[in-house]
Amino acid sequence: MNDSACDVVIAGAGPYGLSTAAYLQNLGLDVRIIGRPMRFWDENMPEGMYLKSEPFASNLGAPQRGMGFTDRHPDWGLGRPIPLDTFVAYGRWFASVVIPGTEDAQVVNIEGARRDGYVVTLSTGETIATPIVVVAVGVGPFAHIPDELSGLPSWLVSHSSAHRDLGLFAGKEVAVIGAGQSALETAVLLADAGAYPHVIARRAELDWNTVPEQSRSPLELLRGGPRSGLGTGYRTWLWAERPGLVRYLPERTRRRIVRETLPPAGAWWLRDRLDDRVRVSTGRCVVKAAGRDDGVALTTIDQAGRRVTTEVEHAIAATGYVPDIERLTMLSPDLRARIATHSGPKGGGTRFGAPVLSRNFEASTSGLYFAGLAAAVTFGPVMRFVHGADFAARRIAHHIIRRTPAVREPAGRVETVLEPDVSPR
Ligand SMILES: Cc1cc2nc3c(=O)[nH]c(=O)nc-3n(C[C@H](O)[C@H](O)[C@H](O)COP(=O)(O)OP(=O)(O)OC[C@H]3O[C@@H](n4cnc5c(N)ncnc54)[C@H](O)[C@@H]3O)c2cc1C
Repeated sequence: MNDSACDVVIAGAGPYGLSTAAYLQNLGLDVRIIGRPMRFWDENMPEGMYLKSEPFASNLGAPQRGMGFTDRHPDWGLGRPIPLDTFVAYGRWFASVVIPGTEDAQVVNIEGARRDGYVVTLSTGETIATPIVVVAVGVGPFAHIPDELSGLPSWLVSHSSAHRDLGLFAGKEVAVIGAGQSALETAVLLADAGAYPHVIARRAELDWNTVPEQSRSPLELLRGGPRSGLGTGYRTWLWAERPGLVRYLPERTRRRIVRETLPPAGAWWLRDRLDDRVRVSTGRCVVKAAGRDDGVALTTIDQAGRRVTTEVEHAIAATGYVPDIERLTMLSPDLRARIATHSGPKGGGTRFGAPVLSRNFEASTSGLYFAGLAAAVTFGPVMRFVHGADFAARRIAHHIIRRTPAVREPAGRVETVLEPDVSPR
């Protein structure tokens, strides 16, 4: 016997969960959204961080007008980076205006119900019977530490998402493995906090994004292609603004696009802040990490095949996120085994991967939807970013509404009148 029942449970209250909830509001459905709004951004990103995405590409999705970041902050123009705290506050404001109640709990288990639908168990102990679950748990569960670095205790090696307060490393020598924005910004923030960071990157050179051009002549526009939420260029525009079409490309192509669109690079505004306080070693691949009494010894191989061992007090793996259903331990083993994934048929020791999704983000198990990074293999690179939230939320919500019998009278869509945030920052 379950404690309660509802039409839809959304697991996760980040940009994708909040946007999906916004589209499902006022349509007569009983929707429960589980998770503290913007928790991952608030707890798992370093204090002092700025967003890399442009303001216009940092909007959450909603059917009402006035809910975008750029509506809330109309003066926040192109080329002005958004501080983390401002973005978290925006997400929480969005939740407070559009969604009647988010629940500060965790989904700890989702299993298939005996007949159909799902039983969702919360950290409070409550069980909820529901025909529909939207898994919008973001990137956190998919934090990836490469094999060479794994197996050591977390006080020696950790993932970048484990750190909110880098001040803990003041006075310490810390290796940061990676060459993306997360690695470079972590290194700068470590230096700001009084640590001695050492970036170790596989790439031959660090790469930096260029300053966005405020205005472009028609010729420049023709040559360079349109601007989009993922950057400038014709193909980039397609991946950013038409993810529905990306799904029709062959899987190998989609995987390549996800890998190659926005490859590891630092934001233009970070470049000057990465000064001689940060040691940088490029063209070096970490092949081994060994624990010592007072730190960790990292063995790297450079492009000429030379081995170098570097000793540090801690290593931070800024090595990204890899979607893999097996990492979603809140899905019961039985349910996980029923979800078709992109890494081929189950069994035979195959490592499971991202879920196969329909054009409506639905997995092979009816009524189970995945939003965000888990959908990137299907809909392309925009699913790795906030910019993909509106598309995903609209598709998921419209499909849920079409399939759900109208059990209640829709309350009608609310046209909210909103004032921009003009408080001093
Ligand atoms: C350091 C860093 C910087 C980034 N900068 C940018 C940027 O500038 N622009 C951009 O577009 N993207 C950026 N990203 C990517 C960003 O994480 C995604 O775009 C965005 O968070 C996707 O939203 P989401 O809702 O899928 O995930 P999230 O924001 O991760 O939200 C998912 C939520 O689900 C919650 N959750 C997890 N498990 C459960 C559970 N079992 N029960 C209930 N809740 C659960 C989490 O706590 C989290 O709050 C960055 C990522 C990192 C790591």
